[in-house]
Amino acid sequence: MNVVVFTGGVGGAKLCDGLARSVGEEHLTIIVNTADDFELYGLHISPDLDTVMYTLAGIANPVTGWGIEGDTFNNFAMLERYGVSPWFHLGDRDLATHLLRTQLLREGMPLSMVTRVLAQRLGVKARLLPMTDDRVRTVVDTDEGLFHFQEYFVRLRWQPEVRSLIYEGVEEAHPNDEALRAIEIADTIIIAPSNLYFSIDPILALPGMKDALLNAAAPIIAVTPIIGGEAVKGPAAKLMRELGEESSAVAVARHYADFLNGFVLDERDAELEPRIACMGMGVLVTDTLMTDRDARARLACEVINFADQLRPEKLGGCRADLLPPQR
Ligand code: GDP
Repeated sequence: MNVVVFTGGVGGAKLCDGLARSVGEEHLTIIVNTADDFELYGLHISPDLDTVMYTLAGIANPVTGWGIEGDTFNNFAMLERYGVSPWFHLGDRDLATHLLRTQLLREGMPLSMVTRVLAQRLGVKARLLPMTDDRVRTVVDTDEGLFHFQEYFVRLRWQPEVRSLIYEGVEEAHPNDEALRAIEIADTIIIAPSNLYFSIDPILALPGMKDALLNAAAPIIAVTPIIGGEAVKGPAAKLMRELGEESSAVAVARHYADFLNGFVLDERDAELEPRIACMGMGVLVTDTLMTDRDARARLACEVINFADQLRPEKLGGCRADLLPPQR
């Protein structure tokens, strides 16, 4: 069983954790957005890769969903003592990841190999792949000017109104070869509940990535990040409105309609099902809110079984005990 997941940070990391429990971590290839990566104090920070890696390693902060559980912020206090007050806080243990990553990159190791080294040492068995080894950066064009993603997201708390997004460097970037091969031989491909514009679109914008999906034999399923017209967290719905889209699960399905075979709609939005089904894709209506680890595993199982229904031959492979009693 080969399951490929496209993801950003927290939302997708939760589903990956559920998939790891329901089909087994070693069956997962996770293609992670790196257009949010940035440099701080000369360190290379990959927020989405780290969120997924820490989640699968079982050390993620359960409250924020990112960072490391129980981490301290002594480095921040010391920086303040020097009169520097950074708008991006890095935990002390988290800092070790960025130190090591930066050193390995400086020694000439590509990001994909650095990621493999870090993930292996944390005991992660899933294949964690940065979408590319090249530099792609999301630039946000707003009513207050152009900002790099982290500045818009963290410093400005996503308040400026967005006019458009630029994925700087994406046209010259090469998608991760292993990711392309994994898509080709996948049994199931899942677009995680992640921000459409900030997490998934940069991956899809890589040359050859969309074609790889269009040519894939496996069913491709997206899980909605929008429930009741709003994001579970973050700016996805606000952004949809600012970019002239309807902020609803229907617009999410439409956004990916070119290559989707199935869409997982939240049960709170059940009335939208016909509008999505008429785009020519299967629709699974269920509770998509991953409030705890059991909810993650249950949703993951439902998604895998849904994929099974969308292909001629059934693969099975999901742990049945994680499924909910008859709905
Ligand atoms: P990041 O975590 O900030 O990097 O952002 P992501 O790209 O992961 O996107 C978070 C998206 O996932 C948001 O649009 C949320 O609405 C969505 N999300 C987060 N948690 C859940 C959940 O439990 N269920 C569903 N359906 N969506 C979620």
